[in-house]
Amino acid sequence: MAKLRIIGGVSRVLFGEPAYCCLCGAPASAGVGICGHCLEVLAQEMAWVCKVCGIPLRPPLELCNGCRLNMYWFDVQRSLGIYHGKLMSAIRRMKYGGERWLSRPLGRMLSRLAEPFSYVDLVVPVPLVGSTRRARGYNQAKDLAQEVSANICVPLADILEREEARGPQARLNRSDRLRNLRGTMRAAHGFDLDGARVLLVDDVATTGATLDEAARVLKSAGAARVCCVTLARTLQYLLAEEEG
Ligand SMILES: [Zn+2]
Ligand SMILES: [Zn+2]
Repeated sequence: MAKLRIIGGVSRVLFGEPAYCCLCGAPASAGVGICGHCLEVLAQEMAWVCKVCGIPLRPPLELCNGCRLNMYWFDVQRSLGIYHGKLMSAIRRMKYGGERWLSRPLGRMLSRLAEPFSYVDLVVPVPLVGSTRRARGYNQAKDLAQEVSANICVPLADILEREEARGPQARLNRSDRLRNLRGTMRAAHGFDLDGARVLLVDDVATTGATLDEAARVLKSAGAARVCCVTLARTLQYLLAEEEG
């Protein structure tokens, strides 16, 4: 793996693009950043999904239980894959392992998912709490959003700000998470969102509560439509969803 990283680093310096798959390390064509096998695995995981929130379902179901019972602020949400295996490890390397460069190939993969939403007016990253961003030095969602913005040719607007939630989010269900998050985000003043169609970008969706709170804030500020794309969504939620 260390050897691959060195080769990947040299390749990036020489060609600006990784020539190895960012998920499994197998050779991938320069400029693509993911191999055909990994693309196929992700496509299979997400072959049949809920029309609204994008969680995998069994055909011919079109809506999951959550979307039959709840109204969301966002209009639609899609993820590239499930938060496990190689995708999870690449995301964790990008966020916690100091491999910020991974936002380029992962962002390019996310751009494919974002293509059907290229009619939007703005690409908006989900913000990090200020203290987390300062400790990490960057917001990985903004890095991904920059890549998506460049690839689908829609301007990036980093207009959301976020404060610490009132209590820890882990182990809370979706409605408790929403309650915990309510009022922790706001849109920058003086930005005209009237009638805007927005594409929200984040790395991982756990229950979708963060995306929903961001969508609520954007719509309260005048946005007409909010679509969301994330690299991955967590499996715990999928299991809870199936049981629920
Ligand atoms: Zn691969
Ligand atoms: Zn759903």
